[in-house]
Amino acid sequence: MFGKISSKPADDKRPRPDEADKLANLKVQRDKAAQQRDRAREKIASLQSHLGHLEPVATAGWKKFACYEDYWEDQRLHKAEYEAERAFEAALWARRDSFGTSARCGVCRADAVFEVDSQWADERGPAWREKMQCRTCGLNTRLRAALQFLLNVAPPHTKPKIYATEQVTAFFQQLKQAYPDAMGSEYLSDGTSKGSESAQGIRHEDVTSLTFEDESFDALLTFEVLEHVPDWGAAIREFARVLKPGGLFWASFPFDLAATKMLVRATVSPLGEIIHHQPPEYHGDPINADGCLCYQVFGWDVMDALRGAGLVHLDVYSVWNPSLGLIGRGLHFVAGRKAF
Ligand SMILES: [Zn+2]
Repeated sequence: MFGKISSKPADDKRPRPDEADKLANLKVQRDKAAQQRDRAREKIASLQSHLGHLEPVATAGWKKFACYEDYWEDQRLHKAEYEAERAFEAALWARRDSFGTSARCGVCRADAVFEVDSQWADERGPAWREKMQCRTCGLNTRLRAALQFLLNVAPPHTKPKIYATEQVTAFFQQLKQAYPDAMGSEYLSDGTSKGSESAQGIRHEDVTSLTFEDESFDALLTFEVLEHVPDWGAAIREFARVLKPGGLFWASFPFDLAATKMLVRATVSPLGEIIHHQPPEYHGDPINADGCLCYQVFGWDVMDALRGAGLVHLDVYSVWNPSLGLIGRGLHFVAGRKAF
């Protein structure tokens, strides 16, 4: 059978006027979409952080755990190794009240002497994590580990934009030396308004409502702050908000790796009263001589909260390396990135 014979001459391939309009329209739409796509790509490229891989490069002694099960598996497999670490520490301590020990400081990048005393010591030994203060840079074990990791992951020559939730500390001084553009702040209660500086040049920020624009930083550092923030959920949402896509979240806080859930020590009632669920525990505070109340000790559920805030590639990093003076239990950090 034959199909319908068109009345249109076979050689006329020109589109009809209405079709020509439609085609022109489509072309305009396609060009517009391409332009939008290019602009979006440019914007993403300008916002994306160019930080290197999170692996702490070749600095031996670092391990990472993605979850509770990972942590326990490691404990089981490396029981003897951990026992040897404790034995090494006991031999170094030898029940002295105070002493100096030398090793290489990863921050000073030189041989250094680390000071240990018996403040916060218990029957198991000195508080290694908070001691081993380098005579040169003044940083303790935890802070040397934190900065050393950062120096590896975000080399200063890449000029990352960094924000730290501290400013009057030895850590911030060292951070500023390595990264002159780094910003820091403290929580002030002297009437300084948020986002501005006190007469002493200290910037006031409330971590639950930061004054920075969205996607401002390549790295956000927060050490031993979250446990003092009753509304810590708001703080982590703010941290994620001000990070650029791909930006580094690098934090430490009391984190019981053996626990799936956080221990709530205190909360704040709707009327603003502090309710203690555990005996109050105060930690040292560079701004407030009375110390700072610890509201919670985190468990692995904090990782879900961080993911919920928009962070990905979350792991706990843990280090023990005596040649770098990084010893003691609990040298744990949380690293993650802002999702793209
Ligand atoms: Zn040092």
